Amino acid sequence: MTILDENLIKLEKFLKPFKDKGVLNNINGLSKPASSGKTFKNISPVDDSFICNAPRSNFDDIDEAAKASKAAFKEWSKTGFAEKRKILHKIADGIIERSEEIAFCECWDTGQAIRFMSKAAVRGAENFRFFADKAISAQDGKTLPSQTLMNVTTRVPIGPVGIITPWNTPFMLSTWKIAPALAAGCTLVHKPAELSPITAQILNEIALDAGLPKGVWNMVHGLGEEAGVALSQHEDIKAIAFVGESKTGSSIMKQGADTLKRVHFELGGKNPVIVFDDADLDRALDAAVFMIYSLNGERCTSSSRLLIQSNIAKDFINQLVARIAKIKIGHPLDPETEVGPLISKNHLEKVTSYFEIAKNEGAKIAIGGHCPDMPGFYVSPTLFTDANSSMRISNEEIFGPVLTVIPFDSEEDALTIANGVDYGLTGYIWTNDLSRALRTSENLEAGMIWVNSENVRHLPTPFGGVKASGIGRDGGDWSFDFYMEQKHIGFAKGKHNIPKLGK
Ligand code: NAD
Repeated sequence: MTILDENLIKLEKFLKPFKDKGVLNNINGLSKPASSGKTFKNISPVDDSFICNAPRSNFDDIDEAAKASKAAFKEWSKTGFAEKRKILHKIADGIIERSEEIAFCECWDTGQAIRFMSKAAVRGAENFRFFADKAISAQDGKTLPSQTLMNVTTRVPIGPVGIITPWNTPFMLSTWKIAPALAAGCTLVHKPAELSPITAQILNEIALDAGLPKGVWNMVHGLGEEAGVALSQHEDIKAIAFVGESKTGSSIMKQGADTLKRVHFELGGKNPVIVFDDADLDRALDAAVFMIYSLNGERCTSSSRLLIQSNIAKDFINQLVARIAKIKIGHPLDPETEVGPLISKNHLEKVTSYFEIAKNEGAKIAIGGHCPDMPGFYVSPTLFTDANSSMRISNEEIFGPVLTVIPFDSEEDALTIANGVDYGLTGYIWTNDLSRALRTSENLEAGMIWVNSENVRHLPTPFGGVKASGIGRDGGDWSFDFYMEQKHIGFAKGKHNIPKLGK
């Protein structure tokens, strides 16, 4: 029996509860279907098979969940940090205990390879531990004395919040948004992506088992245009933390306008990796390949544009092609697999439509550009060459295992090309010239930049994008800036002069 065969047997065990009962909402601690009784089908991208039904919730379900989170806010917002810390660490313990189940279900639900998803639970647990330990400082503020007043600031949780997450690495991203909200003292309604609802339910079960009071974390499944719209419009929800496409962010901003929602957006990207001729080219090659072909290229921080200095372009591209040819496409539960299927048929059609677009624009498909003959939504790792910065393949987020190479001559050219897109999430710079690294990173329009490195996450650092890539930052204390309000209190030091009217 191969490891894949063994993994498929384990998968059946993990999927059984979902196959028996489907995915359910959880409102005020109670598992339930949508109030309308309507469901939608959850399909596996691995072989296009039916996994289970999920609740197609509407305004009524969101309303019930928002009211539950409003009621629970009174107590949770006042719960001491030691208690919050204890519960959040217990959630992290629960995640580790169920890590294999989480990894396997995530692979089957999203098509992501087990070599990456086996770390999803560990990273999710780390997010909870990090914010568990930060709960003690959530209320921290400043002392700003004046001559007459002792001014102090403190932070208070903003209220019940809505959290709307996408289908790419949904488990990890949900923990990344939910852990700081809870540490801040907010209650929440989570609307997971309709294409990947399973691990959100496991996470929610873990939280309730860890002793999180009912109503603090409500989970409502449904479609973006129904449940998502209702959540972003609900008057009891004070803020929306959203991860997803830029155009959805723009819709959410409009939907939340009437109720003056605070928003935090982590959106799309078309991130450049800029390789100068003086760089350590072997390491740059490793990083460029990893940052676009890992996670099936369905990664907001992927380096989907390779900007390569012209004098080294030919050799670098040849090596790139040789590496791409060896990338292992396969079943997500096979530990050898490096690239699995894309999330859905629709998404496959979107990604593969760029093959025609590339050819029509005059670019060349150096490798890939087809779908392997396998069941499921597989796309072969693809490289576009002979591209220039005005082409659609150089500007639009494709969100698949597809890399566009654009040569440049000078540092100035590289920056013009890198900054010439609507997005500004991450940038990767490869050079051994320190001054050039400093100049380029200073002038690159991106929220996060790595020099001589792939994306390596460090939880205390700010995570987020500029331009169409987002609004706001997560990580460290920045998460509390979003989930909390600043409050100023001035204490009179003595009897300062108060203007006297009507005397
Ligand atoms: P999406 O915008 O289609 O959907 C994300 C979520 O929004 C889903 O839960 C969906 O149901 C909901 N939604 C859709 N329409 C809505 C509406 N009108 N109102 C409220 N909610 C609505 O995104 P996706 O396709 O699931 O995810 C891929 C996108 O996410 C990519 O663009 C990717 O770059 C981005 N992303 C960004 C980051 C980041 O940190 N910047 C991280 C991961 C993913």
